[in-house]
Amino acid sequence: MSRKLVVGNWKMNLTLEQSKELIQDVVGRVPFHSYIVIAPPVAYLHPLKEFIVGKKNVHLAAQNVHHEEFGAFTGELSAPMLASLGVEYCIVGHSERRTHFKEKNETLAQKITQLLNHEITPIYCVGETLEQREKGRTFEVIKKQLKEALFHLEPEQIEQVIIAYEPVWAIGTGKNATPEQAEEVHSFIRKYIANKYGEDIASEIPILYGGSINASNASALFSQPNIDGGLVGGASLNAEDFIQIIKANFPN
Ligand code: PEP
Repeated sequence: MSRKLVVGNWKMNLTLEQSKELIQDVVGRVPFHSYIVIAPPVAYLHPLKEFIVGKKNVHLAAQNVHHEEFGAFTGELSAPMLASLGVEYCIVGHSERRTHFKEKNETLAQKITQLLNHEITPIYCVGETLEQREKGRTFEVIKKQLKEALFHLEPEQIEQVIIAYEPVWAIGTGKNATPEQAEEVHSFIRKYIANKYGEDIASEIPILYGGSINASNASALFSQPNIDGGLVGGASLNAEDFIQIIKANFPN
């Protein structure tokens, strides 16, 4: 797995036609030495596959997965189903899912296990709300999110996980964490993982920043030593902006 990468989260946006146009535009311009993952709405995962054939640096992700393998869960999708579509990555625990769908760390732990059992790489999101930050609870919140959803994993499993630090107050708000604020949390996350699994493993785990990344702030964020890339929402819906962000993480 590449430690450096950029992930685009399209959320619940675009028609199928628009999504085909966007992926074609991105794939046509993405630098060959970069590594990117695109998370379209789940219904588009299969139809978009043909646009990335032969592109070793472009991969697809689901935005969510159910925590059970199969069964009477109308409207849901399981890890083996995603695997059968050839999906390689899946976002887990995005703050929008924690907020709107009341997803808890315990369920997220099950989702992560399901994904790993089916050889799909989880992109696990953690992050504090503004209130939690203002009360000085950021590290405590992040610790709990990491411990409860990841620390049941064996060392060879955690090596397959990507972590995304996404301060809730920065998502879709236009307010990004400063590079220093983000780096402080990223280095904390790496140390916390190192305490449990050792330095060697912790140093290999990609830790992405997410929260209002754009073409102008991306370089400063990505130049921090523990920020390995980005999870990009709004700006990933515009090919030009997304390409600029990718180039900021993969300069020539
Ligand atoms: C996200 O949805 O993960 C995200 C970071 O969104 P935005 O870039 O729009 O803040």
